Amino acid sequence: MNLRVFTTLKAGGNPDALYIERDLMSLESRVCALQSAGENTTVLGWGSNVLPSDDGVPGTVIINETKAISIQGETLLADSGAGFQDVFLAAAQSSLGGLEFAVGIPGTLGGALVSNAGAYRSEVSKYLTRIRVAFDGNVEWKDPAWMEFSYRDSILRRPDPVQAVITQVELRLPFREPKFIYDDARDYQRQRIGKQPPSASAGSFFKNVIDAELAQKIPGLTQGMRDNHVIPAGFLIEACGLKGYRIGGAMIGKRHANFLLNVGGATARELRSVAVFASRMVQERFGVSLEEEVLYLGDWTRFNPIVSV
Ligand SMILES: Cc1cc2nc3c(=O)[nH]c(=O)nc-3n(C[C@H](O)[C@H](O)[C@H](O)COP(=O)(O)OP(=O)(O)OC[C@H]3O[C@@H](n4cnc5c(N)ncnc54)[C@H](O)[C@@H]3O)c2cc1C
Repeated sequence: MNLRVFTTLKAGGNPDALYIERDLMSLESRVCALQSAGENTTVLGWGSNVLPSDDGVPGTVIINETKAISIQGETLLADSGAGFQDVFLAAAQSSLGGLEFAVGIPGTLGGALVSNAGAYRSEVSKYLTRIRVAFDGNVEWKDPAWMEFSYRDSILRRPDPVQAVITQVELRLPFREPKFIYDDARDYQRQRIGKQPPSASAGSFFKNVIDAELAQKIPGLTQGMRDNHVIPAGFLIEACGLKGYRIGGAMIGKRHANFLLNVGGATARELRSVAVFASRMVQERFGVSLEEEVLYLGDWTRFNPIVSV
């Protein structure tokens, strides 16, 4: 089956095999069996942070639809396939805060941990106490340090990453008055609605650039950005005049330049070609190398960017 239906960018080819797993035991036994057999295994949540190649993804793709969430005191235990927003809601209903920033971030808790998802100066790794991973055909609990988290990064995102699958997650969240939790969540949601385009996307395509020296040099940044040493990728792309830049069905957002949109039938090649063009322009104009937040999946060996005319 085509991965287009399992990704928010609505693009990409076929895996060799595809399974959907809905409970923890089936997920763990499927992953362990594949790992023991030396099969290339990719687990996807909502596919909201990936761009699979048109040439497909070698090996087996497992769609993680595990969902269980339980709470005891300040400890929340959830399957890695639980929706990040469902985790926020379950926590809020038990007067546990911390995840207000998750409102509006699509995807699973497992996917959120892989990219250390965050917004509004918070990130999910802050609350992690233990993580259960299937690795080399065995399942074991690991400490958060094992993930080597940093800004939108973890050990599972590195080039040639360890073949580990997160199956369960334990978070410790602070007690908070529900009124304050919902007020903050509503406020974040409102800010998102103003910024996020309705077309198919994977959210921010590139990571923001964190560089204290550069943040003082680039003209036009706000004082807040300079103080926090952040140069938003969207700011750099917009400054290159690329809002609305388009190849086929792939377009840079007109509302937010760090959103790469599929505005109708875009191929993965068209989408990546636009990304390549934007990062080249930013490199030429500012000398800054943009790093993708979105992960390219599968076989890109024959990728050849389309040159716009
Ligand atoms: C409209 C929109 C807004 C967004 N806003 C934000 C935002 O504000 N902040 C932010 O950080 N991100 C944001 N994102 C990006 C994305 O939603 C997050 O990165 C999300 O956490 C990805 O979760 P997922 O389940 O969809 O992961 P997927 O896209 O399914 O997977 C991402 C990667 O993680 C791996 N993976 C997934 N699950 C597992 C697992 N259980 N074990 C091991 N590996 C796994 C996959 O193989 C893949 O490499 C946004 C995306 C969209 C579309």
